[in-house]
Amino acid sequence: MTMSATPPYPLALDILAIAAHRDDVEQTCGGTLLKMAQLGHRTGILDLTKGEMGTRGSAEDRAREALDAAKILCVSWRHALDIPDGRVENTWENRLKVAGIIRQTTPRVLILPYWKGRHPDHYTASILGYEACFLAGLAKLDVNGAKEGTRHDSTRVTTPTEEAGHDFNPAVAPSHAGGQDVRRAVTPTNAGGHDFSRAANPLHQKGVLSPEVLPPHRPFKIIYATLYYDTRPTFVVDITDQFEARFDSLMAYKTQFSDQEAGKGIFPAQAEIRARVEAMARYYGMLAGVTYGEPFLQKEVGLVEDLTQIPVKSI
Ligand SMILES: [Zn+2]
Repeated sequence: MTMSATPPYPLALDILAIAAHRDDVEQTCGGTLLKMAQLGHRTGILDLTKGEMGTRGSAEDRAREALDAAKILCVSWRHALDIPDGRVENTWENRLKVAGIIRQTTPRVLILPYWKGRHPDHYTASILGYEACFLAGLAKLDVNGAKEGTRHDSTRVTTPTEEAGHDFNPAVAPSHAGGQDVRRAVTPTNAGGHDFSRAANPLHQKGVLSPEVLPPHRPFKIIYATLYYDTRPTFVVDITDQFEARFDSLMAYKTQFSDQEAGKGIFPAQAEIRARVEAMARYYGMLAGVTYGEPFLQKEVGLVEDLTQIPVKSI
């Protein structure tokens, strides 16, 4: 993190993606997040749960894998809340937790899961995320009512009270240094590692980062990643150039997707996963006239200035 008194607080993300589980974002909008980072936008991921109920791997394994995946997608910030896995509920407490994150990260664009689906955690995360955005904009609301536990994963994924200002800046990883420069916040002080310790943050010691002093914020735009559900998207993002990296980010979850005995009956083999992911990306790409695409839905109508510039061919 930088030591200046202005940024990194609030974190000032351009785009934040919220999902129920670690690896959801990688499957539904990872290519889009990478593309946005390559365009110079600051992106982030909030996972609502830590994955402790998964058939394969522990929450600690998942935390490590989530950071690996985040590096591949060049996101500037990633955090997991302590909402129980398999029990994402749209409660007041959970809404306050998410609202606190919205205020801390001040995204202009928020990506939520679609509001229908097979897994209750997924569609509940959608409604929870939307209502949290509404709360986050209420000037008189003290979001500090939600206190998260202070338990840490071994990988030091941060808690909301300590995370502000601790960008882990995965884009500094040497393996990604050759890509687009998304490292606007990188300084010599944060390039060497990921020090998430509370004491290392002078801003926190001054109390500047307390959630109760965070100003209200609502994202300008909320869009829904629909890939988990069979519905017609209102737009598709061309991820042709990001498809391989997006697949790599999914494969970073080695405990989930490498071929193994545990859960063999319910998890497809790795080759099958590749085929499925590719088929879906091809399908949505085809709808938009590109090779690979990721589908999204917006509730609002589209706005057009010049009819001759509308993309996607009709005939
Ligand atoms: Zn999920």
